[in-house]
Amino acid sequence: MSTLRVLLSAERIHARIQELAARIDQDFPSGPVYLVGILKGACFFLADLARAMKTPSRLEFIGISSYGRSKTTSGEVRLTKDLDVSIEGYDVIVVEDIVDSGITLSYLMQVLQQRKPKSLRIATLLDKPDRRQRSVKVDYVGFQIPDYFVVGYGLDFAEDYRNLRDVCILED
Ligand code: 5GP
Repeated sequence: MSTLRVLLSAERIHARIQELAARIDQDFPSGPVYLVGILKGACFFLADLARAMKTPSRLEFIGISSYGRSKTTSGEVRLTKDLDVSIEGYDVIVVEDIVDSGITLSYLMQVLQQRKPKSLRIATLLDKPDRRQRSVKVDYVGFQIPDYFVVGYGLDFAEDYRNLRDVCILED
C-alpha cells in the first residue's frame, strides 16, 4: 500500500509563492505578463502565483505529452494543446510544476521562442536538479528537492492526488 509523507506543507508553499510573485513584480513592473501554465500539474501553482502578483497577468495553458521519461529517454515530446493567442511581442513566463530531466521544458522553450515573445522565462514550483539531462535556465524556482517522486498541489500519480494541499512523497 502507498503512503504519503509531507515534504512541503501548504503554508510553506504559500509563503514561497508570495516571494516568487514579489520578484516577478520587480522584474516586470508594468505588465501584462502572459503566464503559460503546462497542463495539468501547474494549475494550482499558476492560480496562486497569478493572484499573488501585483503585475497584471494573462493566463494561457499549453498541453504537452512526453514520452521521454516513462519509456526510454528518447526526448520525444509532443504538443497536445496549443496556446489560444499569439505571444509575439509579449513578456511570457512558462509556469511548470516540476523540472526533472528538463526534456519537456527544453522542447517547449524552443517552440515558444520561435513565436517571438519579447521575453521568455520559466517559473517552476519544484526542481529536481540531480536528474537533469537537458540544461534549462529556470528563472524562478520555488524549491529544489532531492530525487523523490512527489504528488499533490497539482502533481499526480495516475491522475490521483492532484488536489492535496501539501506536496507529499509517495512511498510504496
Ligand atoms: P521532464 O521533462 O523535466 O523530465 O519532466 C517534467 C514532468 O515530469 C513534470 O511536468 C511532471 O509531469 C513529471 N514529473 C517529474 N517528476 C515528477 C514527480 O516527482 N512527481 C510527479 N507527479 N510528476 C513528476
